[in-house]
Amino acid sequence: MRRKMAAGNWKMNGLRSSLDELEALAGAHPDPACDVLICPPATLLALAADRCAGTAIRVGGQTCHMNVEGPHTGDISAQMLRDVGANAVILGHSERRADHEESSEDVRMLAQMAQAAGLQTIICVGESQFQREATNTLDIIGAQLSLSIPDSSTGENLVVAYEPIWAIGTGQVPTSDQIGEVHDFIRARLEQRFGFGVGKSVRLLYGGSVKAANAQEIFDISNVDGALVGGASLSAKDFSPIIAAL
Ligand code: PGA
Repeated sequence: MRRKMAAGNWKMNGLRSSLDELEALAGAHPDPACDVLICPPATLLALAADRCAGTAIRVGGQTCHMNVEGPHTGDISAQMLRDVGANAVILGHSERRADHEESSEDVRMLAQMAQAAGLQTIICVGESQFQREATNTLDIIGAQLSLSIPDSSTGENLVVAYEPIWAIGTGQVPTSDQIGEVHDFIRARLEQRFGFGVGKSVRLLYGGSVKAANAQEIFDISNVDGALVGGASLSAKDFSPIIAAL
């Protein structure tokens, strides 16, 4: 049985005062039935890790650099994330792929570094509206999977998030059949590449406009092991019912 997972991606949101939300969340879920992860901006990571110490909430980064250290102004390495208490990192989010021109090959290198540093990697894949309308969604996802996921992946250090770009922050959610089709495809691809045991144990998250109101329906879809949540992870009030639905 795969343990369910609720991951919150704060993106470029949050000041120190936002950390109170973590306390409220931890208080509401002292012993959650799923893994709970919050990925705040890098500026809050160390403080968030301190606040979450001794609670069921883990913290993670939103990206990392492909080098361990060196002359890379503004960047942060996987080791640095580990050093401040992160135990996971989101990689290849469509906003990183678009804003920073990260290719799937780049994502694989980042993931390799992150896994070597002992971080769990949440690797994001997803098609654009245009790609879906051209009906080659599974081709796009298939290519992203094979290029972005490193060979060093295991059932523990890899989580895959399916995030259709057109569903992120738009309030538009794919139908259950559409989500199910892609998640079944991702599961089959992982089993093909890593073998049945590993392929079966990787958690698959859905992301894109997940809210309290639609969480249960999404979590009932086969091969959906949880969610990667943006907007609705920013407050304990909104994230809490999503955690409770898992
Ligand atoms: P959203 O973002 O929940 O605000 O749509 C999801 C994500 O980008 O991870």
